[in-house]
Amino acid sequence: MLVVMDAHATTEQVERVCQAIAELGYAPHPMPGPTRTAIGITGNRGPIVEAERIGQLPGVRELIAVTAPYKLVSREFQEADTVVQVGPSTSSGTGSGQAVAIGGPAVVVMAGPCTVESREQVIEVAQAVRQAGALVLRGGAYKPRTSPYAFQGMGEAGLRLLAEARALTGLPIVTEVMDTETLPLILEYADMLQIGARNMQNYPLLKAVGRTSRPVLLKRGFAATVKDLLLAAEYVLAEGNRAVVLCERGIRTFDDGARFTLDLGAVPMIKQLSHLPVIVDPSHASGRADRVAPLARAAIAAGADGLIVEVHHDPLRAVCDGEQALVPESFRTLMGQIERIAAAIGRPLATTHDRR
Ligand code: PEP
Ligand code: MN
Repeated sequence: MLVVMDAHATTEQVERVCQAIAELGYAPHPMPGPTRTAIGITGNRGPIVEAERIGQLPGVRELIAVTAPYKLVSREFQEADTVVQVGPSTSSGTGSGQAVAIGGPAVVVMAGPCTVESREQVIEVAQAVRQAGALVLRGGAYKPRTSPYAFQGMGEAGLRLLAEARALTGLPIVTEVMDTETLPLILEYADMLQIGARNMQNYPLLKAVGRTSRPVLLKRGFAATVKDLLLAAEYVLAEGNRAVVLCERGIRTFDDGARFTLDLGAVPMIKQLSHLPVIVDPSHASGRADRVAPLARAAIAAGADGLIVEVHHDPLRAVCDGEQALVPESFRTLMGQIERIAAAIGRPLATTHDRR
C-alpha cells in the first residue's frame, strides 16, 4: 500500500505516519517527491486491515493499493525516475573522477574487457574506452564461467589492476560479485557491484548487496521474466539500497542463432513498471562482435538509459568472450552513432570531456 501525503504535510506528520505503520508491525518507506511525500508500506501479507486508521492521520491525502507483487521498485510507489550515482562519492574514496549519473536525461555507456587479464590489457582498454567517451570501466576479476575448467578470473590481483586503471583514467569501475564471501573484498575496490545473470536469483547475495550503499548493476537472468527481475531488485531495495540499475542482456529462447535473444521489449516494459534505470548489454546478448552495434543502437532507440559493452584491444587473444569484443576503433564509431540516436529521441550522451 502507498500512503500519499498532502503537498503541504509537515515533516512531523510524515514521521507520525511512519511511526504508526511501524507500530502495526509493517515497514514504512518514506519517498519524498517533487510535489509531495509518499510512504510505501511493505511487510504485510495481505490487505492492510488497519488502513482506515492510517488514512485518518493528519496530513494523509489518500491510500493507494499497490497491485504489483514488487513494491519499492514499482512506479506505483515512486513516480519519478531513480537516478543512480556511480563514482567516487559512493566508493571507498579511492576513485579520482566525477560521479556518473545513470537514469537521468543523459545516456551513459560502460565499457571494458570481459575479464581483467593483465595490467597492459586493462590499462590499454580503459584508456581507449575513455577516449571514445565511455564513463564507467567494466571488467571482471571473479568470473562466472559455464565450464569449471575455463579461466575463473584474476581475483584480488584483478581488482587491484582495475583500481590502477581507475586511478589513471578517472573512470569508476563496475565489477562482478559472485558470492557473499568475496563481497567485503570487492567493496574495497568497486564503485558499482555487478550481479551477473547467473546470480540474479541468489537471494542471500541480493540481500547482502542490499545492506551496502554501493550502486548495484543487476543483470537479468537468462531464464528470468521481467517480473522475476523486478522481484530480484526488490530484494536489494527492501534491505535499504535503492541504487539499483537493471540490465537486459538477452534471454534463452527457442532460437539458437545467437548466443541469447535480446529482449528489447523489456526496456519500455521496465520503464512503465519501475522507476529504476535500465541499461542493455548487447555483447552477451549477441555473442558476436558484428552484431553488437545494431543491438546497441536499437537499445538506445528503445529508451535504454545506457549500455554496457565489451571492448578488447586484441580480441583474438582475449582470454574470455573475444568473439563478442569490439576493438577500440569500432567502439568509437558506435559511440558516435549512439550519440546521434540518443539526440534523435531528445537525450544527450554523457561523455568524457577529452573525448577524441
Ligand atoms: C559479464 O558481464 O561479464 C557477464 C558474465 O555477464 P552475464 O552475467 O550477463 O552473463
Ligand atoms: Mn563477458
